[in-house]
Amino acid sequence: MLNLRKLAGALASVAVLSLPGLAAAEGMVGISMPTKTSARWIDDGNNMVKQFQEAGYQTDLQYADDDIPNQLSQIENMITKGVNVLVIAAIDGTTLSNALANAKAADIKVIAYDRLIRDTPDIDYYATFDNFKVGVEQANTLVEGLKANFPDVKPWNVELFGGSPDDNNAFFFYDGAMSVIQPLIDDGSIVIPSGQMGMDKVGTLRWDPATAQSRMDNILSANYTDKHVNGVLSPYDGLSIGILSSLKGVGYGSGDMKMPIVTGQDAELQSVKSIQAGEQYSTIFKDTRELAKVTVGMVDAMIKGEEPQVNDTKTYDNGVKVVPSFLLEPVAVTAKNLQEVLVGSGYYTEDQLK
Ligand code: BGC
Repeated sequence: MLNLRKLAGALASVAVLSLPGLAAAEGMVGISMPTKTSARWIDDGNNMVKQFQEAGYQTDLQYADDDIPNQLSQIENMITKGVNVLVIAAIDGTTLSNALANAKAADIKVIAYDRLIRDTPDIDYYATFDNFKVGVEQANTLVEGLKANFPDVKPWNVELFGGSPDDNNAFFFYDGAMSVIQPLIDDGSIVIPSGQMGMDKVGTLRWDPATAQSRMDNILSANYTDKHVNGVLSPYDGLSIGILSSLKGVGYGSGDMKMPIVTGQDAELQSVKSIQAGEQYSTIFKDTRELAKVTVGMVDAMIKGEEPQVNDTKTYDNGVKVVPSFLLEPVAVTAKNLQEVLVGSGYYTEDQLK
């Protein structure tokens, strides 16, 4: 009797001890993020860890310092570790095919997070924002600002910046923006004095602010000795900071040199403050808490053998297949609605914006 009771007790404690291991094996999510140089990716990572843990999952969150081999080895490690799902915001959306073939072979599900992963069949779902609309909204605020701040200038002198050419999103942002800007070039309302148009000319590798700053320097010195620039399409707040430094460096924003309308994206704190200070004109708010929620929902459904919710099955062809996607709505932010959108939603506190 005693021995049997002892045995039962021992078995029970083995079962209890092995429970966390079992949970990990069934619910471990590898989260591969591109970089910590931009606050949005830090928020994305933190939001996901929090929400996955609340839903009972374990997480392995890694940042790759914008280094492609680094991201690849982090993903390979997650596969070796036996994660059940990979959530990946790719640095270069075309370099993961082999790694993802290994994931597939190990029966690991894959979600492309915010950035589409291209040229592979081994991706299950895509969680992102309506990226074309991001570009449309960037251009809409650019035009709104040009009308408001440069009502007497005809045509408006505008320069264009694109995101990283290895990021599928960059093309959607650019195409969305040009769907608004091109008709205004065609009717003579806007000119591009540098003549630099198209993602092959305006792209900014790795979304690097310093690259944007030096390209703006060059554009200004080569094309603006006898005229002023009125607007700059910038696809990301980090680039906008570089562009604004370049503009300020040659005197824009003081004396008779009015600051051009400069757009952005991500509602990063420094840029939101710049909007409040009347420098950057607009940004695009993409609520990373919501993107995390969508992603956690997808993972949860997949692990439970259910169908994740999607709202787009047409737009995101990765070169091999159309990836079922969930697109969230981006929100354009200017000084006019900044408080309401960013503080009102609890994304920032009043104190953070001081
Ligand atoms: C994201 C943007 C971000 C950019 C640079 C894009 O893939 O969608 O929100 O501004 O990367 O990090």
